[in-house]
Amino acid sequence: MTRIAILGAGTMGHGIAQVAAACGYDVALSDVDEDALGTGMERLAANLAKGVEKGKMNEEDRAAALARVAATTDLAEAVADADLVVEAAPERLDLKEQIFAAVDSAAPDGAVLASNTSSLSISRIAEATRRPDAVIGMHFFNPPYALKLLELVRGEQTSDATTDAARAHGERMGREIITVTDSPGFATSRLGLVLGLEAIRMVEQGVASPEDIDTAMAQGYGHPMGPLRLTDLVGLDVRLAIAEGLFEALGTDAFRPPDLLRQMVEDGRLGRKSGRGFYDWD
Ligand code: NAD
Repeated sequence: MTRIAILGAGTMGHGIAQVAAACGYDVALSDVDEDALGTGMERLAANLAKGVEKGKMNEEDRAAALARVAATTDLAEAVADADLVVEAAPERLDLKEQIFAAVDSAAPDGAVLASNTSSLSISRIAEATRRPDAVIGMHFFNPPYALKLLELVRGEQTSDATTDAARAHGERMGREIITVTDSPGFATSRLGLVLGLEAIRMVEQGVASPEDIDTAMAQGYGHPMGPLRLTDLVGLDVRLAIAEGLFEALGTDAFRPPDLLRQMVEDGRLGRKSGRGFYDWD
């Protein structure tokens, strides 16, 4: 049995846990917030049930996958036997450093220590451990059951063995894998964010409504979803944190967070997770 520990049961954590459980992993899902952990488990269970409804999974496999997931608020317990740790906590370097230092103390030798960060430096996160060679970025996409991309991010000290092991885990979870070097925003967030932030600036300037901007990209450019709807799914707070990091790191105006984004986050309009963003999700 291969064991995966996922730290953070929010938007990404519960989704990665769902995919791993469905692929036969023994999963420990962990969060510091008991309510968030409960909600994450509920969403995971609901998604698996939806998989049965849609004929993607049979009832026996659903029950077996759910039985393979254990929830805990104890990080040390979650990572104690892990072959792979995937951290999916909020996008703050200080927090991720703190988590990786704790993981380093509790995870077994030989475990792959991965962060699902969208933009932060893997090399910096790795410095919080005594085994930077074992640290790598495993950037999953939202929602993981539908979007198959896995962006592997090699830090300065990430070993070939760690990269090979992370790739093997990604393949087992049915991912389409790309590998990038550790640079701000990697390949995906750097490009995706430019589009998302520009769309917000266009709303701010009254160029068009969110619906029309999204329709422009969906129907005119064949994007499966417009940039504002996607921003709602990602979470406006998550997008703001990434924009702040990339603006600081790259110093390009394209990444300067729009005032409207800041205002909406201040007002608690975080997108789907809070019920309102550019769209009403109730
Ligand atoms: P989220 O806010 O939905 O969930 C984060 C969870 O982490 C919360 O439940 C929180 O209680 C928990 N947490 C906080 N401190 C913790 C700790 N010390 N230990 C364990 N859990 C802790 O955030 P999210 O959207 O799931 O993002 C998580 C990570 O994934 C971020 O690095 C983000 O950049 C990245 N990411 C997000 C998306 C997206 O679409 N939202 C996509 C790809 C990657």
